[in-house]
Amino acid sequence: MNTAIEEVYSSLKEQFRGDLLRPGEDEYADARPIWNGMVARTPRLIARCAEVSDVQTAVRVAAASGVLTAVRCGGHSLAGFGTCDGGMVVDLSRMRQVTVDREAARGWFAGGCLLGSVDVATQKEGLAFPAGVVSHTGASGLILGGGFGWLTRRHGLSCDNVEGFTLVTADGSIAHADRKENADLFWALRGGGGNFGIVTEFEVKLHPVTSVLFGEGLCLRDDIPRVLRRWREFMPEAPDNLKWNLSLRLAPYTENVPADVHGSPVVSESVVWIGDPEEGRRYLDYVLSFCTPVAVTKKVMSFLALQTMADDEFPHGRRYYTKSGYFMSLDDSSIDQMVQALTTVPSPMSQIELAYLGGAAARVGAAETAFGDRSSPFVVNLLGNWSDASDDAGNVSWIRNLFKVLRPSMTPGVYVNFMSGDEEDRVAEAYRERWERLVAVKSHYDPTNFFRLNQNIPAHKAVGKSDHD
Ligand SMILES: Cc1cc2nc3c(=O)[nH]c(=O)nc-3n(C[C@H](O)[C@H](O)[C@H](O)COP(=O)(O)OP(=O)(O)OC[C@H]3O[C@@H](n4cnc5c(N)ncnc54)[C@H](O)[C@@H]3O)c2cc1C
Repeated sequence: MNTAIEEVYSSLKEQFRGDLLRPGEDEYADARPIWNGMVARTPRLIARCAEVSDVQTAVRVAAASGVLTAVRCGGHSLAGFGTCDGGMVVDLSRMRQVTVDREAARGWFAGGCLLGSVDVATQKEGLAFPAGVVSHTGASGLILGGGFGWLTRRHGLSCDNVEGFTLVTADGSIAHADRKENADLFWALRGGGGNFGIVTEFEVKLHPVTSVLFGEGLCLRDDIPRVLRRWREFMPEAPDNLKWNLSLRLAPYTENVPADVHGSPVVSESVVWIGDPEEGRRYLDYVLSFCTPVAVTKKVMSFLALQTMADDEFPHGRRYYTKSGYFMSLDDSSIDQMVQALTTVPSPMSQIELAYLGGAAARVGAAETAFGDRSSPFVVNLLGNWSDASDDAGNVSWIRNLFKVLRPSMTPGVYVNFMSGDEEDRVAEAYRERWERLVAVKSHYDPTNFFRLNQNIPAHKAVGKSDHD
């Protein structure tokens, strides 16, 4: 162990209430890996905090010694920012308390919560927080980058539903940010990622949602481009209650899919209606009539079932690589390129994911939060997902090649939470006209760029010190 980290360990040992895990010690092996198996790093110390004072101590001691520090909530950063080689990880996984006030439709949750922790607690009170679609994702990373999922068109981005943040800043002190107090920081935390401190508590608005109408189906062959075109034309006029996602992929080998379709290129449609199911059924039937789908499901399901439905598709430890972007409008040639690329996809688990935002998320002004882009409603995420390290090169180059072909038709910009670890050069592109204001807030709260393992916004004084490892 090198001297600086040894010093950090010795100082923390005196005062830390949580767990201090070092290589070779009990629990370290389980605590080391993050979700993306492509990012296998070895921190020299994992400081698993039990309470807010642990977070403060860890930050103060690490900042004083200059030890590289990663912050981890759910460890789902696609880029792998929840870990590092050689330094320390501040791990928040023991801090998962959630409190709900049903009458006020408000929730408070700690900085280590997974989406599932939040959903389970809020659903007990008949309320829901708008967030992502996989329950083992960390709530902190998702919200700080923006956060979208099934409720976004109806109730806005996750960050739009935050009323206040409590955080530990780079000097180890506690700050609160809301519309009145530290308003610039409040603005920056809604989209600006983990650049400004470690959030220990979120105060959020909740919404009365306990069940949804859900439909899905797979369309094949000539129906694939037809559905994409109908989707492109229909969504701008769709009611906010409707979320209709598409995924180009190879048909899964599951029981509900006819055997002769297994492994064939398909567009998989998932449709969610939030609100009156009778009204929703008309929309669901209409949308699913744009092709002749197989493996069709239409049912009312609980919100918790919806939120955990995709959990098994994205297990911990597999190899993942992404490239993402926005389209203002989806042209025919981009549709054809995506459909064509499907014929050469190297892994049956990889997908070209398409979502349409708009709705409540688009009605928040561009300057109201730091979130990257609300003007381009079409989001594409090229998500490589495979098991074997020997297949890395083929899978990564498939994603990169498709992205290169699509890029000229995209609007500049990218959702920070869908970025890979090799896209540092796109961070300023992600924030565009919000960049200078973000740099100013960063310079105030973290002038030495202590929090730099993220989609990094360097402070004025620390330009050039944005190393990621
Ligand atoms: C399977 C899967 C499904 C996903 N689905 C969606 C989705 O539906 N919608 C969506 O919008 N995104 C989705 N994402 C992307 C997701 O938003 C990001 O991967 C996000 O970074 C995950 O947050 P985390 O806390 O798990 O990550 P971590 O790896 O723990 O952290 C990510 C970043 O956030 C910072 N951070 C973490 N906790 C804190 C904290 N308490 N305070 C300050 N900074 C912190 C870290 O320093 C790091 O830079 C998904 C990702 C995966 C892997």
